[in-house]
Amino acid sequence: MKGRRYDIHTSNACEVSNAILKNAREYPIATLVEHTRWNVSASFTKRREASNGWKGPLTSYAVKTIQFSSEKGRRMNVTAFDSLLFQVSSKFHQDRVDLREKTCTCHAFQTLEIPCAHAMSDIGFRKADALEFTEEWYRSETLRETYREVIDTTLDRLQWQ
Ligand SMILES: [Zn+2]
Repeated sequence: MKGRRYDIHTSNACEVSNAILKNAREYPIATLVEHTRWNVSASFTKRREASNGWKGPLTSYAVKTIQFSSEKGRRMNVTAFDSLLFQVSSKFHQDRVDLREKTCTCHAFQTLEIPCAHAMSDIGFRKADALEFTEEWYRSETLRETYREVIDTTLDRLQWQ
């Protein structure tokens, strides 16, 4: 399973490290550590400031994903077995969605933990709130909390004891 992205355009820790160290590989170790600290701090600051500007309850990534799924789900036919279990038919597929378990036979719902197009077909049909079926790490408040801590500055090497 690929890592979750949360609207951050890096896929894994190696990618992040390589990007940070791209121009610093030949530095002495203390300079390399300070360079890394500075870059991580700048990255956290940028993400903190971006997330502070979001007005809605969900991150921009979640909003875009739900809008895309919702649009796609509008073209599907829903057969409800009860209020939370239903079958969704599209042109070449049939999928089963269980909103109690937050699962779908396409596996996107349980993998991303955000409603897939099949789930959105019913959520849209019933005018239910997608937020109810979206995990809390897609909430703006969760992301703000993630980057709330400030990575403090360090003294110059000549000031170290
Ligand atoms: Zn699905």
